[in-house]
Amino acid sequence: MLSYQVHDFGKPLAQVIREAPVPQGSEVLLKVSSCGVCHSDVHLHDGYFDLGGGKRVDLSRAILPARTLGHEIAGVVVALGPDVGEAQGLSVGDRRVVFPWIGCGECSLCAAGQEHLCGAAQAIGVNRDGGFADHVLVPHPRVLLDFAPLAPEHAGTLACSGLTAYSALKKVGMLGAHDPLLIIGAGGVGLAGIHLALEVSGVAPIVVELDKSKWDLARAAGAADVIDPSADGALKALLKATGGGVAVAVDFVGAASTFDFGLGALRKGGRLVSVGLFGGATTIMPAMLSLKAISITGSYVGSLQEMQELLTMARAGRLPAIPLTQQPLSQATQALDALREGRVRGRTILIP
Ligand code: NAD
Ligand code: ZN
Repeated sequence: MLSYQVHDFGKPLAQVIREAPVPQGSEVLLKVSSCGVCHSDVHLHDGYFDLGGGKRVDLSRAILPARTLGHEIAGVVVALGPDVGEAQGLSVGDRRVVFPWIGCGECSLCAAGQEHLCGAAQAIGVNRDGGFADHVLVPHPRVLLDFAPLAPEHAGTLACSGLTAYSALKKVGMLGAHDPLLIIGAGGVGLAGIHLALEVSGVAPIVVELDKSKWDLARAAGAADVIDPSADGALKALLKATGGGVAVAVDFVGAASTFDFGLGALRKGGRLVSVGLFGGATTIMPAMLSLKAISITGSYVGSLQEMQELLTMARAGRLPAIPLTQQPLSQATQALDALREGRVRGRTILIP
């Protein structure tokens, strides 16, 4: 089994060759067909989430001494643990996408179907080895979902970029024709959000994207308009064009500046959904929240049920793939570097 692992934060991934694991109990071994590279993999490879002002969430405990990243995995079942049989409806040769956001299975959040928010997460590609490899061990068949007739690389991206965008937009729900929606960031997750906006929120979003070389992608995905947040008077112009601000802003970047832009763009009664993890810190003025009756909601990936709903939509042909670029698995480090430097359009997909 070949895998590319983080051994030192920020250093090139280490190529590791060892025996493929033999599945025990309820485990299932998949041969990886494809694995998407998410900007969260960049943060995990860096070893921290930036909280601004020199503060960080340190990821040493989750990642070190060795971790195979990669949580957008599709593959083929090659071996079943002794407890997995016909009853689970799974056989060798089946093609499946992995729901990677696995919880402890015992806490109240897991019991409520919110295992992606579990405090003792067992997420594949974060707390357990993931898909930057030619095989991946999955703890239970319940997190393996059929994706036919989709291509594996499309199905894999649904496990994070698609699911994260879907769960964020579901928190918003249907908007009216006079309720503008702002989407910030047209990267892997943001483009999925633009695709989903019409389906889930019923409106074509206005998109905020710093990198003009990605504006064509935002438009092709369904943006009503694209704006440059760094342009002089950008926020003022948006407030004017929307007659006082947007109903909802979804921030798929999560930098201090994008959070400020999203919050500043809200009309009275508006809502900011914060998703991205670029990081930094900013000031919130409590009186403004009260005076404008606005709310701020965080959103983290999504639930297994939401992934099933999303797959149903995609398998019915209602959710196109974001632009995908395939690269050999051996280029995993280069793929992380390109994403860190903003050189990726859509998603890079690693192929073993
Ligand atoms: P990406 O690199 O593919 O896309 C980021 C996009 O944001 C790029 O198009 C970039 O040009 C744009 N951008 C950067 N700074 C900007 C700014 N100041 N204003 C406007 N646009 C800006 O990354 P991605 O894979 O889409 O992930 C985005 C973020 O979301 C990452 O921090 C990632 O870790 C996080 N994420 C969070 C969750 C969650 O569940 N909350 C899930 C997946 C990813
Ligand atoms: Zn991700």
